Amino acid sequence: MTLSTADLRQKFFDYYKSHGHQVVASSSLVPADDPTLLFTNAGMNQFKDLLLGTEKRSYTRAVSAQRCVRAGGKHNDLENVGYTARHHTFFEMLGNFSFGDYFKKEAIEFSWTFLTRELGLPKEKLLVTVYTEDDEAFDIWENHIGVPKEKIIRISTSDNFWSMGDTGPCGPCSEIFYDHGEHIWGGPPGTPEEDGDRFIEIWNLVFMQYNKQADGSMEALPQKSIDTGMGLERIAAILQDVHSNYEIDLFQNLIKSAADVVGTTDLENKSLRVIADHIRSCSFLICDGVMPSNEGRGYVLRRIIRRAVRHGYKLGASDIFFYKLVSALAKEMGNAYPELVDQQPVVEKVLRVEEEQFSKTLSRGMAMLNDALTSLEDDTIPGDVVFKLYDTYGFPVDLTNDVAREHDLKIDIDGFDSEMAKQRERAQKASNFGADYNARLNTNATSTFTGYTETAGEANVVELIAD
Ligand code: ATP
Ligand code: MG
Ligand code: MG
Ligand code: MG
Repeated sequence: MTLSTADLRQKFFDYYKSHGHQVVASSSLVPADDPTLLFTNAGMNQFKDLLLGTEKRSYTRAVSAQRCVRAGGKHNDLENVGYTARHHTFFEMLGNFSFGDYFKKEAIEFSWTFLTRELGLPKEKLLVTVYTEDDEAFDIWENHIGVPKEKIIRISTSDNFWSMGDTGPCGPCSEIFYDHGEHIWGGPPGTPEEDGDRFIEIWNLVFMQYNKQADGSMEALPQKSIDTGMGLERIAAILQDVHSNYEIDLFQNLIKSAADVVGTTDLENKSLRVIADHIRSCSFLICDGVMPSNEGRGYVLRRIIRRAVRHGYKLGASDIFFYKLVSALAKEMGNAYPELVDQQPVVEKVLRVEEEQFSKTLSRGMAMLNDALTSLEDDTIPGDVVFKLYDTYGFPVDLTNDVAREHDLKIDIDGFDSEMAKQRERAQKASNFGADYNARLNTNATSTFTGYTETAGEANVVELIAD
C-alpha cells in the first residue's frame, strides 16, 4: 500500500476515532507553563496533567499528531540530522492516549491491529522490545498477539523506560521495530549494531505508572495510563517502500525546492537533507513565537538557521536562500497546519533578516576556518579558533563542529571554554570601569554551555539550558 504522509495522518486519526478516541489538535512547540522543557518533544507533553491525574476532561481517550522539536534539552537529535535515515529536528508524532482508561493489553492490541491490518505491514518484518522486568508485556506479545518469542527482546536500559524530562510522568515501555532488510547495516535492538538503520524503531508504547520526582525517586501515579508515539515520517517511509525518511513524498518535494533555490542538481547531497529538515523546525518554531536570539530557545533557533545557511553556502548558494523555502513547506504542510500559511510572510521575514545578518560574516569565517584546517597539527581544531569563529563571525560552536565532523576532525571544547572564561573576565573588568563594551557578550551570559560529550555513534554537542 502506498499512502501519502497526509493520508497516513488521517488514517491514524480515523482508526483511533473509531475506537472512542477524541482527536486533539497539536499543541505549540513552546510548552505551556513548563519551564523544565525546552521544546515540545512528544505527544504526551500537552497531556501531562491528565497523565498525572491532576486534571480531568470530558474524554479519557485521545489521539493526536503532535509537532515536536528535538534539538536541545533531554532529547537532542540535531547532530543526527544528515547522518541517520530516521532523525529530524522537527517531526510529527502520532499518538494515542488513555487517561486511566485502558492499559497495556488494549494498547498493544490497538497498535498491532493498526500496523498489520489497517496498514497491512507484514508481521515477519516487525519485532518488539519490552523492559526487562515487564513479564506482563512479554506475555501479552507472546500469548495474546502471537509474536514469536525470539522476536520479543528484553531491554534493560533507559531506552525501555520512557521519561519526558528530569521530572514528570514516566514508565516502562515496549517498542515496535521494522526490519528494512539485510542490505542495510545495523542490528536488532539490544545488540552492538543497534544504532544502524536496518531495524528502525517506529512506535513506542509507554505504560505510564510513575511520577519522577526532582530527587530521582518514583512515585506511583494514582491511575495507570497509556502514552504512545509513532514518528509519522518513519511509518510513511515504510508505506512508501523507501528506507530513509528523507525519501518520502514530503521530503522529496522539499529537497527539490532546496536544490532549486541553492542552484544544485545533486539531489543526493546530504546538505539538502539538512536544509529540508531545518526549514521545518525553523518555520514551525517561528510560527509558535520563537525568535532568533542569543539565549535559551531563541539561540537554539538561531543555531539551526545558521547551520542551514552554512549548508547552503557549502552547496554554492550565491544569495540569501533559506526563506524562499517557506512557501514550499506551506504547500506541503499548510493543509494540516493552516497557521503556516497565515504566518508565511512573518516567517519569511524573520528568516531573511537572520540570514542577511549571518551572511555578512559567514564567508569570512569560512575562509578563516579553512585556513585553520590547512595548518592543523593534529585532528583537533584549536579552542582559540573555535572561539574566534564564535565571537567574531557568529559561528555557534555546533556549527563549527558540524564542519569539523565533515573532515573527520574534532574541536577542542575545553580550549573554547577557557577562551570564553577569559572573555567574561575581560568584560567583567571593563564593566567595573563603567564601559559598556561588548554588549553582545552580556546578552549571551544566560546561555549555559553544559559541555560536550561523545557517546557511541552520537555526538551531543551543545546543550543549552532553557532559562
Ligand atoms: P530513536 O531511538 O530512533 O532515536 P527514540 O527512542 O528517541 O527514537 P521516542 O522518544 O521513543 O524515540 O519517540 C517516539 C517515536 O517518535 C519514535 O519511535 C520514532 O518513531 C519517533 N521519533 C523519535 N525521534 C525522532 C526524530 N528525531 N525524528 C523523527 N522521528 C522521531
Ligand atoms: Mg532518540
Ligand atoms: Mg529509541
Ligand atoms: Mg523510543
